[in-house]
Amino acid sequence: MTAPTPAPNRGAAAVHRDSGRLVPFRYRELGEHCLVTNDFGRYVLLTRNEFARLAEGRMGPGDLAWSKLQAAWFVAGDLDRNQVLAQTAERSRFLRSGPNLHILVVTLRCNHTCQYCHASRAPMHHTDTDMSIETAERSVDFAFQSPSPALTLEFQGGEPLANWPVVEHIIEYALQKNALARKSLMFSLVSNLTLMDDERLDYLIERRVQICTSLDGPPQIHDAVRKWSDGASHDTTVHWMARINQRYRDLGLDPHLYRVEALPTITRLALDAPEALLDHYVSVGCHSIFLRHLDPFGWAATTKARLGYTMPEFLEFYARAYHHVIALNRRGVDFVERTMALLVAKVIGNFEPNFLDLRSPCGAGIGQIAYNSDGRLFTCDEGRMVDRAGDDCFCLGDVATTAYRDAIAGPQVRAMVLASALDGQPHCATCAYKPWCGVCPVHNYCEQGSLHGRMADSSWCQKYMGLFDFLMQRLLVADDFERGVLQRWATPRRQEHFVQEAAAL
Ligand code: SF4
Ligand code: SF4
Repeated sequence: MTAPTPAPNRGAAAVHRDSGRLVPFRYRELGEHCLVTNDFGRYVLLTRNEFARLAEGRMGPGDLAWSKLQAAWFVAGDLDRNQVLAQTAERSRFLRSGPNLHILVVTLRCNHTCQYCHASRAPMHHTDTDMSIETAERSVDFAFQSPSPALTLEFQGGEPLANWPVVEHIIEYALQKNALARKSLMFSLVSNLTLMDDERLDYLIERRVQICTSLDGPPQIHDAVRKWSDGASHDTTVHWMARINQRYRDLGLDPHLYRVEALPTITRLALDAPEALLDHYVSVGCHSIFLRHLDPFGWAATTKARLGYTMPEFLEFYARAYHHVIALNRRGVDFVERTMALLVAKVIGNFEPNFLDLRSPCGAGIGQIAYNSDGRLFTCDEGRMVDRAGDDCFCLGDVATTAYRDAIAGPQVRAMVLASALDGQPHCATCAYKPWCGVCPVHNYCEQGSLHGRMADSSWCQKYMGLFDFLMQRLLVADDFERGVLQRWATPRRQEHFVQEAAAL
């Protein structure tokens, strides 16, 4: 049940070629085994003995391990050229579209004072931090300039429901524009739900807006961190989650597709009891959880000392949580842990889920744009949070005066692409996890003072190396049931039910 602190990247220091017969590969020692990966994202787990034979050129046809290598696209002469091209195109398809996620911060106001407050809120009377109708329209115009055939407009804050008229206006304005543009358009709202009412909910459901909320655990954890002076945050959030899910059921919609997605922010308060957190999620009707480490962005950095924890502590927590999720599934509860689902989509499913923070290069500017309430543009929401802490280096301009082309092809986006392309990261270029991993320049900047950072000492790398190591250990020992669960998680998630109808006509 333990999650070992990841070993340094020693075993991955060389890229080998076996007399021209094998494609280039990277390896990593994992106890009695060696993981071997190639740039197609395929892998084999060999015993030490098998790996020694491979490294010494003593392996060839007739050897059982050789057939594993053949099946996983390591033997150059056996490659199916069309298959390889198709897989390579699929794994890099995000490079050929443009930003598809557009985060609209419609206000900085929030009625909560959460102690980690990533979004760096403003008090409720600060209506001057609301996005204006004019800025909202310009932001939507800007988003529609993206060549991406799919657009998601995501409402964030602050608390976006605090500026409800602008949320409604953006939806109507975007739908109008999309009658011509005919993109695959989706809306999502990230809200604490405490300013929800029936009229707003009717509208959101009618307009197919996906609703996401924050739930940090049982009341004693949630309310201790997510402070709300007007009432009990936990009970109100859970009340609205139940109401929204019931509305979907009343409309005859598939509850596995239509439901409120909840996300926890893992603080020290939750660290000792992952089982209680997961059981609570199940008890309020959730079918999934996304276990994320507390990030060093914005104001969270200042509260890290009280709410934070070390990466080995997080990995220990994660391992316990994972085992509990598998145990829930064994008891018949269909429940997904989304971090692991992302990893297995890449490792087992052989497809790119296009999670913007775990791809090479990352999504900053080329996969997402964040629109601040005053109209300033940022590489991503995390870059905007750094601005709230007083540093505007991730700002790309503003919707009133900056041309789309200048923002996207400007020096900031170029720098982000270069810093997050793993071929340019010395530690990553030789890492066995490179085919599936990604790095975050904003994280590097906050933690290590430069966009490129230094992965050998980075907590980001420590996290993903630990998670990939953990997955590989599970793949070595998992029984059929656990493998079946991971295989299910590795299938692509359906999202089209939230796509606006205009695109489907
Ligand atoms: S810089 Fe970091 S947060 Fe921003 S898109 Fe890239 S990985 Fe994500
Ligand atoms: S960030 Fe990912 S690819 Fe880079 S060294 Fe760490 S685990 Fe490997």
